[in-house]
Amino acid sequence: MDQIYLILLYSQLGLSIVVAVSLLWVSAPYGKFFREGWGATIKTKYAWVIMEFPAVAVIGWLYFSESGYTSLILTLFILIWQSHYLHRTFLYPFTLKNGNKPYPLSLVFMAIVFNTINGFINGYYLFHLSGSYPVEWLTDPRMISGVVIFYTGFIINKRSDKILGSLRKPGGTEYKIPEGGLFKWVSCPNYLGEILEWSGWALLTWSLPGLAFALFTTANLLPRALSHHKWYRSQFEQYPSSRKALIPFIM
Ligand code: NDP
Repeated sequence: MDQIYLILLYSQLGLSIVVAVSLLWVSAPYGKFFREGWGATIKTKYAWVIMEFPAVAVIGWLYFSESGYTSLILTLFILIWQSHYLHRTFLYPFTLKNGNKPYPLSLVFMAIVFNTINGFINGYYLFHLSGSYPVEWLTDPRMISGVVIFYTGFIINKRSDKILGSLRKPGGTEYKIPEGGLFKWVSCPNYLGEILEWSGWALLTWSLPGLAFALFTTANLLPRALSHHKWYRSQFEQYPSSRKALIPFIM
């Protein structure tokens, strides 16, 4: 099993580069960039539930099967992880105003594979390989700063998704210029929040799988933020010129 873990870990690290380069050329065909020609589809709200469920289940299964509950720190880790994924899997999809929009099954399949592998490498490392963390880890600067970064990102992500959700009435499909919160500075604060969350996770777990996850998230969301930003500028003449794509004042 250790061999499989290593293969998957290094595959994910390598795949980050492939994903980042590919997505700079081709936007994943969902949401604003949905287009025909990517095969069968399902409703977006169900796609989210199906795609994200492995992220809840795989690490949860490893936590129990490897007796992670005997460690306070490992229990805090799983609570932090699940605070994001339980919301994303079971609540977020049903807040979407346009949740019946088609979503390609091919993307659902890729996300299931990613979430299964990512849940496995993070869970296997934390609950099997790490040999647990001493209780002193609670006051370690990496844990404290990681938790602060994770929940700063969590708040930015949820608040930004809420602002996007408030732009439409139920069933609405039109796009508007989002205002408020970090939208003042960037086009995709929801993605910025997500990247902060998993960077915080890498820091608080001080682990290579955590780093691989943070890198993969950035590889996925940075090119997409650039695509959203370009799209907004092409669609709205009055789009604020000082707004950047992902990082305030920089990019
Ligand atoms: P988007 O910003 O593309 O869309 C989010 C929702 O807001 C959709 O329902 C979308 O509708 C709607 N929306 C977006 N822009 C507008 C607008 N200008 N006016 C009106 N409605 C709008 O986000 P994603 O779907 O890509 O991501 C959703 C969440 O998932 C985010 O929190 C993101 O961080 C996270 N995520 C994480 C990933 C990871 O690698 N960890 C990967 C992808 C997403 P419509 O569908 O019609 O466009």
